[in-house]
Amino acid sequence: MTKKFNPYQEVLQTMERAAQLLGLNEDDYITLKYPEREMQVSIPLTMDDGSTKVFQGYRVQHSGVRGPYKGGIRYHQAVDMNEIKALAAMMTFKCAVADIPYGGGKGGVAVDATKLSKGEMERLTRKYATLLYPIVGPHIDVPAPDLNTNPEVMAWFMDTYSILRGRLTPAVVTGKPVAVGGSLGRTESTGKGITLMAKAMSQKLNRSLKGATVAVQGAGNVGGTAALFLHREGCKVVAISDVSGGIYHEDGLDIEEVIGFLRTERGRLLKDYDTPGLKRIGNEELLTMPVDILIPAALGNQITEDIARKTQARLIVEGANGPTTYEGDLILEERGIPVVPDILANSGGVAVSYFEWQQNLQNFSWDEDKVNRRLENLMVKSFEDVWNMAQKYNSSMRMGAYMLALDRIVTASKLRGRPF
Ligand code: NAD
Repeated sequence: MTKKFNPYQEVLQTMERAAQLLGLNEDDYITLKYPEREMQVSIPLTMDDGSTKVFQGYRVQHSGVRGPYKGGIRYHQAVDMNEIKALAAMMTFKCAVADIPYGGGKGGVAVDATKLSKGEMERLTRKYATLLYPIVGPHIDVPAPDLNTNPEVMAWFMDTYSILRGRLTPAVVTGKPVAVGGSLGRTESTGKGITLMAKAMSQKLNRSLKGATVAVQGAGNVGGTAALFLHREGCKVVAISDVSGGIYHEDGLDIEEVIGFLRTERGRLLKDYDTPGLKRIGNEELLTMPVDILIPAALGNQITEDIARKTQARLIVEGANGPTTYEGDLILEERGIPVVPDILANSGGVAVSYFEWQQNLQNFSWDEDKVNRRLENLMVKSFEDVWNMAQKYNSSMRMGAYMLALDRIVTASKLRGRPF
């Protein structure tokens, strides 16, 4: 019988490995093995046809040692407590790598969002926000968008929280539309950050982005935007996929046209896009094809042991959270395939969320140039910090990132006199 994939155990294994490399005592980090709070809620929803369904919702607050809990909300049929715990823990480490004053949290609802109407999405979001009301807040826990949630969903969440609290409270969530307190540059920030990280890593490897071939799994906020920015940097994006399958063009896809096609209408999928010379491909083909850069930017648990053995990518930049399994990662390391790990590569989203939160708390708005400059400075610094840690311990970038995060969290924890 094959072992059931347990994403939370995988994060803990990665953390343990980094803690050992760093020479920590278990006492120093044992609290990080246990989320501080786990909440599960039942969300009753009246469907458009008049029937009632009940969906399970989750919010996990993993660590608040360095600041308010921070992390997205995802709507996906595979969501369960273990997945949300894993994602919340990754947020703790991600915020520490970025050196922003947040802890880690994550939320989600087990629902196939692609089957909900807009009205059902709104009612679901408002009920979920109502149930979470007692445990979120600008200085407590600040959600953001993730898989199948977007700025509109964040606006509904913020509005519901504001009604319950009796005053407009934009800082309760980030990733809002700009007209209701969102930050310029937030929507593009994760994809932009991935591009910055692909560039920084290529420079260290003495490679150029110009003409580099790229395959991207996922064509949503993260994958679609990363593909666009990499294309603008001179890369040749040869393959991209979404839930309906993948497309490939040996001369490079007209990525502006592909993303433009997907974004003109809600629910559009790649299966309906066509152009001369286009080839349809599956998930495995995309993840294993010979490319200079592979960007997994859809779901977790994609680069398994099997895929890690077969992949012909020369560099992997993780857009999704947890796309590589623990065992898969060991194989990539063994094969010498460099990886920019998720907790560094996709931290552009939480970085600009932090800027949005700062703007909300100060009732101020920054121009896009300022946001982008700050994003670049923050991410380039995080990259160098991780790189230096990896060099010092002769480790992978993933171990470098986890060691850096652990060091910062354990230091803060000790200074606060924890555990007591
Ligand atoms: P999204 O909903 O905007 O897009 C997800 C994309 O993945 C869609 O194109 C969808 O069709 C595709 N997809 C779903 N199932 C697939 C499958 N089986 N095979 C191939 N493609 C599939 O979500 P997003 O915000 O782009 O998030 C994607 C990943 O990035 C998630 O792992 C998320 O946790 C992570 N992430 C998001 C942000 C952010 O700011 N949105 C920040 C950091 C990390």
